[in-house]
Amino acid sequence: MNKQTYVVHDHHDERHQGAVTFPIYQNSLFTFANYDDFDAASDHFFDHFVYSRGNNPTVRELEKRLAGLEGGEEARCFASGMAAISAAVMSVVKQGDHIVCVDQAYGPAQAMMGSYLQKFGVTCSFVDGTSIDAIAAAILPNTTLLYLESPTSLFFSLQDLEACVQLAKKSGAATIIDNTWATPCFQNPLRFGVDLVVHSISKYIGGHSDVTGGAVIGSHERLERLNQNEFMLIGGLMTPHTATLVTRGMRTLPLRLEQQQKYGLQIADFLQTLPYVRKVHHPGLTSHPQHELAVRQMEGFSSLLSFETDIPLQDMRKWTGLLKYFRIGVSWGGYESLVTIFPLPLGAGVNSNSASAPCTILVRLYIGLEHPDDLIRDIRSAFEQIGLSEGD
Ligand SMILES: *Cc1c(COP(=O)(O)O)cnc(C)c1O
Repeated sequence: MNKQTYVVHDHHDERHQGAVTFPIYQNSLFTFANYDDFDAASDHFFDHFVYSRGNNPTVRELEKRLAGLEGGEEARCFASGMAAISAAVMSVVKQGDHIVCVDQAYGPAQAMMGSYLQKFGVTCSFVDGTSIDAIAAAILPNTTLLYLESPTSLFFSLQDLEACVQLAKKSGAATIIDNTWATPCFQNPLRFGVDLVVHSISKYIGGHSDVTGGAVIGSHERLERLNQNEFMLIGGLMTPHTATLVTRGMRTLPLRLEQQQKYGLQIADFLQTLPYVRKVHHPGLTSHPQHELAVRQMEGFSSLLSFETDIPLQDMRKWTGLLKYFRIGVSWGGYESLVTIFPLPLGAGVNSNSASAPCTILVRLYIGLEHPDDLIRDIRSAFEQIGLSEGD
């Protein structure tokens, strides 16, 4: 079945009077007619509906859909992407273990693995994910996890998933990948042998900037262990109401992404023509150094991209405010286009004291669902208002 049909089509279900969309089970608990049934369900807690920090039918429905879309046996939803990432990582490592993590992974994920887990005796090395040799060199005898994010969400650099999995398997380490950028529509890392896929549902999958959520997808065996431990004990569950909104958002995921892929590439192409844009980061561009790998391991490109410019920080801060359709804000994946800027090298911080110091600026654009002609006019007009025309 095509992914588009898969997210749109629901079977007729007599249990719910044939309701065309899956009902919201707004319950914390489920009751039983007799104690034998209660015992039987409690003994196989995750196969039954006993308590919603366990299984809830509405959340379960979303989990089944996500697992199917990603090509995995099982999925578990969480309250946020970070709850999913933390649960996935903790399900793999124990005291004394070492993690190899790509150095452009999502910031809080890096902080969790690089700093927070130290108090449990887990260490972490950060490596350039574009170099398989660098990854190989970072693996130690006690490395039990290779943590990937491909493409990364500021510079959009990739890891060769097949090579990474081979390397990890050889050293007995598990692999986890953050697949938020590509979504299950455009990349299915389990196919390459990755052990666990994590998503921030708050982005494209939710698709309407109205929920936070996360998911972990993988084999029955890995998810069973994660359910018993990190899910049950830390308890960062997704609520049924959120699950309904996400199931609804997911119905248009393939359609949104098909359109956003086009828009994103159109804007990236346009940016490349601007004389004061030094470099555009988008794996769909033939100018991207890993374009060939991108085409090989992904089926498409989403619409979060970035560019570098030497325009002074002060002017670029002003530029962001002059944009009409791009709003200033973190996150992405909804209808509305967004902009954020980062002085390079990263970590320098965007504060107005340093605003006049010369540096390169990384501008991250999220291309939403406005018409790209309007977005291009908007970008052009904001540049003109800070005194730059395309002849400059
Ligand atoms: C947003 C994001 C996360 C974290 O997800 P939350 O839902 O905000 O907790 C993780 N990875 C990537 C790539 C993200 O963009």
